[in-house]
Amino acid sequence: MIGGMVDVPPGLEEIRLHDTRTRETRRFVPLVEGRVGIYTCGPTVYAPQTLGNMRSQLFPDLLRRVLAAAGYDVTYVTNITDVGHLVSDADDGDDKMEKAAAASGETAADIAARYTEQWADDRRRLGCLEPDVLPRAADHIAEQIAMVETLEAQGHTYVIDDGVYFDVTTFPRYSEFADLRLDDLESTGRIEGIAEKRNPADFALWKLTPPGVKRQQEWDSPWGRGFPGWHIECSAMATRYLGTTFDVHTGGVDHIRVHHTNEVAQSECALDVHPWVGTWLHNEFLDLGGEKMSKSKGHVLVVDSLVERGIDPLAYRYFFLQAHYRQKQAFTFDAVAAAGTALRRLVGHAVSARDAAAAGAASGADAPDPARVDPYRRRFWAALADDLNAPQALAVVWEAVRSDELSPADRWAFLADADRALGFGLADAAAPDADESGSDPRIDALVAERATARAERDFATSDRIRDELAAEGIELIDTPTGTTWRRA
Ligand code: AMP
Ligand code: ZN
Repeated sequence: MIGGMVDVPPGLEEIRLHDTRTRETRRFVPLVEGRVGIYTCGPTVYAPQTLGNMRSQLFPDLLRRVLAAAGYDVTYVTNITDVGHLVSDADDGDDKMEKAAAASGETAADIAARYTEQWADDRRRLGCLEPDVLPRAADHIAEQIAMVETLEAQGHTYVIDDGVYFDVTTFPRYSEFADLRLDDLESTGRIEGIAEKRNPADFALWKLTPPGVKRQQEWDSPWGRGFPGWHIECSAMATRYLGTTFDVHTGGVDHIRVHHTNEVAQSECALDVHPWVGTWLHNEFLDLGGEKMSKSKGHVLVVDSLVERGIDPLAYRYFFLQAHYRQKQAFTFDAVAAAGTALRRLVGHAVSARDAAAAGAASGADAPDPARVDPYRRRFWAALADDLNAPQALAVVWEAVRSDELSPADRWAFLADADRALGFGLADAAAPDADESGSDPRIDALVAERATARAERDFATSDRIRDELAAEGIELIDTPTGTTWRRA
């Protein structure tokens, strides 16, 4: 559990979030006053988790920090998918873990352990808070079988050679969640699949091991030996740890049409609830197309790819905050390096404000004045309360940093409070290298703004900022690790 703050910051009294199911931005109201349960679909641990996957970690991390700052007791559950995720959404093809094990000659358990560790390490390096519960699908087979048995008793299932399937025609609301047209198979992503399925959108709850085959991961069930479907995992684990209904479910936008549509169908049937989840939040993708990668050479963009280039992993956190979570964000090393430059400068200002505030406090001279600090706090938290508008919140941070009206103690009071959401660890941060900290905050902010504009290929804005600075006699130097400036 985190949270439980009594002092709700100004601006955060009412939080509005964009709910995928109702397609509305609505005031967030938890099921039980003062408490929030969040479930995030976790990694399928058959391969490295990319920087793209990590965007789907940073988003719920920001969410839970904001909810905690608003005074809620947050329980954050995310799972490890170590069985059941098929290569294809159409229920044919092999299990991703089995396939990876067959290809590498390692055991599925070894592969799962390796990539679970990579994921957990990378989350930490990105400043993500630890999950309160981290269940593994393979440890929850009994719960999954029980849920399938319930669905079977209710008449929602049928058994074919390949496994136990959910018949989507038994759940009339099936197409509502994602606004699917079931006659348009392309829109459901299920063009091909298991031939004996009654309806193309029907999905596997339990896959049976074919006669004569021995899998690394298989269990006995009322229907025979096999393994659970991927969708049932999340429903069973979310129910186990958060109850039959809960507040927030998150995931990448790719999950809406198949995985989350199926989670809703089986959960609302088996648990006899509607809506199963109060608010569904989906983050857009990180577009990795900007940097050419050769998968065949095993080059996958991960946190270590940044470290190898001398980029602090937290620069990626700053970069994440520069775009709204419902916008696609284009990845380039330059853009993340530029975010790193902005972050180092922010840390420099935070450390000098922190040290000056501590010195002032020691001499009894300089206490923060809420009358000066709260207008900034209000705008910072109000930006986040508005469907987590992180870019706007960052803009307020830079305004506070360069404001003349704030004393160092005021500035540090603001930054320490804001860091509960930002997650940069400012309270313990060391001063960055001297050449970074002795800079001009206004110019730094413009340089960071230009980097964002360039990352978004908004060259009109980036050129305008360069020209404005040139008019002041400021010269920009673009390097592979970011942009620096000097007075010409
Ligand atoms: P997987 O390990 O493939 O099950 O994916 C784990 C999570 O990462 C899911 O929530 C996906 O939606 C998400 N994801 C995959 N690729 C990206 C990407 N490029 N940008 C953001 N999220 C992604
Ligand atoms: Zn899921």
